[in-house]
Amino acid sequence: MIRGSTELVAIVGSPIAQVKSPENFNTWFANHGHDLAMLPIDLQAMALGTFTDTLRGWHNLRGCVVTVPYKQALASQLDGLSERAAALGSVNVIRRQGDGRLLGDNVDGAGFLGAAQQHGFQAAGNSALVVGCGGVGSAIAYALAEAGLAQITLSDPSVARVGALGEVLGNRFPELEIATRYSSLEDFDLVVNASPVGMGNSTELPLPAALLETLRPTTLVADVVTSPEVTPLLEKARERGCPIQTGAQMAFAQLGHLGAFMGVTPLEI
Ligand code: NAD
Repeated sequence: MIRGSTELVAIVGSPIAQVKSPENFNTWFANHGHDLAMLPIDLQAMALGTFTDTLRGWHNLRGCVVTVPYKQALASQLDGLSERAAALGSVNVIRRQGDGRLLGDNVDGAGFLGAAQQHGFQAAGNSALVVGCGGVGSAIAYALAEAGLAQITLSDPSVARVGALGEVLGNRFPELEIATRYSSLEDFDLVVNASPVGMGNSTELPLPAALLETLRPTTLVADVVTSPEVTPLLEKARERGCPIQTGAQMAFAQLGHLGAFMGVTPLEI
């Protein structure tokens, strides 16, 4: 029940009907007896500028989760960014301070890492292949590097995206070994698909089937795609005996990070 006294958080994107955060947060708020609620906002791009001004003046709003396609555009309109959000040029969560200032962070990578740790994966000293160097792939790569990854291989049909991410990582993590070529998967401790390949009813794989035959059965194979839960890539990895991590597990592991940044949940929920 939303009352006059209810404090709000929001999630903004377009489209918005597919997001799971409102039911996840509202269930948690209700189960814990908090007078808080999350609203989904499907916003047109032309309203972004006035939206950020409205957030600054919205007294009973604690924060806002940001999803596609506004993660980059909103990052440039806030009053302060975490180091990782500034480096990535994108935010997926905003906190409204008591004085109306808007601070942004990007916890996509922290969510991914949290889920991977639950599968027993430790980044420190290990190597990873990140397939897809867009918004989410960049956030994952940054979080892995921050956690002490020794070697990262980046793959994306966009040479510009690989170059841009390589530069961000190289500047911030000079000790990280960065590669863009590979002919086998056997040396990787983690292989992650951070591209949309495999979404919906597609049977497409983000890596050639022959290459997947080189996977070690100890390699953690992860996907960011949430629907289907087990993507064609994860099916193949499971057949090879590899541990797998789904996009839904990554999304779930992010909830505490999003809620804690907005000040409405503890980090562990
Ligand atoms: P984006 O458009 O910023 O990046 C996608 C990247 O994938 C692009 O750089 C593109 O060139 C690349 N790509 C496309 N085909 C490829 C291929 N065959 N091999 C390698 N790279 C390829 O998108 P994004 O915001 O990074 O989102 C990517 C996916 O992550 C979406 O499907 C989104 O729904 C999902 N996502 C999941 C979570 C989660 O918590 N599980 C969170 C956010 C986004």
